[in-house]
Amino acid sequence: MGLDTRRPLLLVDVDEVLGLFMQGFGRFLEDRGLEFRVDRFALFQNIYRPGEDQHLPVDQGKIHFDDFFRLGCGDMEPAPGGAEALRALSEHANVVILTNAPGPARMARARWLGRHRMDYPLVLNTGPKGPQAAGMVRQVRGPAVFIDDLMSNLDSVAQSAPQVHRFQMVADPRLQPLAPTAPNRHRRIDDWDELRQAIEAAIL
Ligand SMILES: [Mg+2]
Repeated sequence: MGLDTRRPLLLVDVDEVLGLFMQGFGRFLEDRGLEFRVDRFALFQNIYRPGEDQHLPVDQGKIHFDDFFRLGCGDMEPAPGGAEALRALSEHANVVILTNAPGPARMARARWLGRHRMDYPLVLNTGPKGPQAAGMVRQVRGPAVFIDDLMSNLDSVAQSAPQVHRFQMVADPRLQPLAPTAPNRHRRIDDWDELRQAIEAAIL
């Protein structure tokens, strides 16, 4: 994908890092007459019919989730400051977008990134991100950084490529207090300006 092997590598997630996924998904569900309640850090267990206390069956939630990626993920708002931070960091580092998204979402996702001035190489992954991240990190000689909102991905990278600087970022203020976190293992910074400075201090 044309990495400059002499430069540091920055691997950045999309949903809840560069884009306000839960907000966009919530609006998409409202258009379908459903409610997305942000009362825990979950996806399929947060979808309700209005007025009901039991969430939709998880397999139905999964259908709406896949539909959102196919039809609606272009409507998501960008996380404040993310594009500006990447632009500054890209002057010194390779920026690669590493997103877990179903295959049919590739075009919509690439268009969304382009529209919000984040037109960097895009890698779609499924499952824990450690193995994919480790493969890319091996291609550069400089230091590497991994940014994600999910502990499962951060732990996976810690295992597969322990030398990588890891940062947890949770962009949606409603999710920040709910997101599982382990600052002793992965630094947690929810503000893009502050995160950019910490990354610069770590790799430049
Ligand atoms: Mg994410």
